[in-house]
Amino acid sequence: MDFELSEDQQAFAETAREFAAHELAPHAAQWDREQTFPRAAIAKAGDLGFCGLYAPEHIGGLALPRLDATLVFEQMAAVDPSTTAFITIHNMATWMLGSWGTSAVCERWGADLTSGRKLASYCLTEPGAGSDAGNLKTRAELQGGEYVINGGKAFISGAGSTDVLVLMARTGGGGAAGVSAFAVPADAPGISYGKKEHKMGWNSQPTRTIAFDNVRIPADHLLGAEGEGFRIAMKGLDGGRINIATCSVGAAQGALDAARRYLHERQQFGKPLASFQALQFKLADMATELVAARQMVRLAASKLDAGHRDASTYCAMAKRFATDAGFNVCNDALQLHGGYGYLGEFPLERLVRDTRVHQILEGTNEIMRLIVARKLLESDVDIR
Ligand SMILES: Cc1cc2nc3c(=O)[nH]c(=O)nc-3n(C[C@H](O)[C@H](O)[C@H](O)COP(=O)(O)OP(=O)(O)OC[C@H]3O[C@@H](n4cnc5c(N)ncnc54)[C@H](O)[C@@H]3O)c2cc1C
Repeated sequence: MDFELSEDQQAFAETAREFAAHELAPHAAQWDREQTFPRAAIAKAGDLGFCGLYAPEHIGGLALPRLDATLVFEQMAAVDPSTTAFITIHNMATWMLGSWGTSAVCERWGADLTSGRKLASYCLTEPGAGSDAGNLKTRAELQGGEYVINGGKAFISGAGSTDVLVLMARTGGGGAAGVSAFAVPADAPGISYGKKEHKMGWNSQPTRTIAFDNVRIPADHLLGAEGEGFRIAMKGLDGGRINIATCSVGAAQGALDAARRYLHERQQFGKPLASFQALQFKLADMATELVAARQMVRLAASKLDAGHRDASTYCAMAKRFATDAGFNVCNDALQLHGGYGYLGEFPLERLVRDTRVHQILEGTNEIMRLIVARKLLESDVDIR
């Protein structure tokens, strides 16, 4: 068992750190404040391969292991969790399209998505189907060589600014078995977008509802086979959960670094804050939680890479643990900054706002516990 990163892995992380320092860090606060979706910066990430990190090579992806992808996402999230999280969602949707898309779909969008010239959204949640996503109502009916889609999605990241929608819709009966997945052009006639949601964080990416009114797409835009859509959506989310967990780890590292600096800089009672043992202990606990979270995420990623039979359970555990720990570390770092942590001139309040949603999306942390508990109680789960 080797916990050290290889030279290649260190190089990936270093490239991402440089990119983050030059292309994200100087602008992240402004994008947050002005709610700007930084398409140009995302395209630059695409130039480095970051928009198709684990997408298959036949669509231009780097086909990297998930573990290596986390190294890249972590560096970017340390300065801008919001933009990085969108890039992870794009990676997830692009991987799904490349893994299950027909040659027509892959040729139409593959190279543009992996290069970041075009962007993808992942469309599962509906107004009435969040945690209970298998109960979704959007329908796709096959009519004369085309699917006709009707229904609506909610909370879709990037919606209105992306080019392809990886859409889960019902082609069969009730439950998860009746769901299929599709690649849908985001500007197809009959698609309309809601207003940009006003959010607590993740302000550098738009979130909108989407309505589908008799939207027609070619039959070969089906991903996989009819009825496979929910399984495909969950396969996407295994990696997505590692990615979101990684964004929390990265943000926590950024917050911890800021707190370490600040404890030396700030003086109270005639001494630097760093001299107060209560704060030293707080810092030690933050670092310990962060390292535990990172190791758990990397373990889950390596289980997914190895095709371990309980990889989904590891991903759920890692997502729950790392997003809780990451938020807590960011919040503690804010506390260590006192009143200044609450002001926009320091990054702490943004990191807190941005990491809060990680406990909610790609399956809430209650649903993560449900997945883990079900496995523990209903099968001989292998977590040794
Ligand atoms: C900013 C943002 C971006 C998002 N981006 C996307 C996206 O790109 N694509 C997409 O498809 N979705 C997206 N989502 C949706 C997100 O995945 C859902 O919000 C999430 O799955 C929860 O669904 P819900 O909001 O309907 O909450 P609900 O399912 O209504 O849950 C409400 C509460 O009840 C709890 N709960 C529900 N069922 C159970 C249960 N059985 N046991 C215990 N507790 C339970 C939940 O944990 C939660 O605390 C996004 C959400 C946000 C906020």
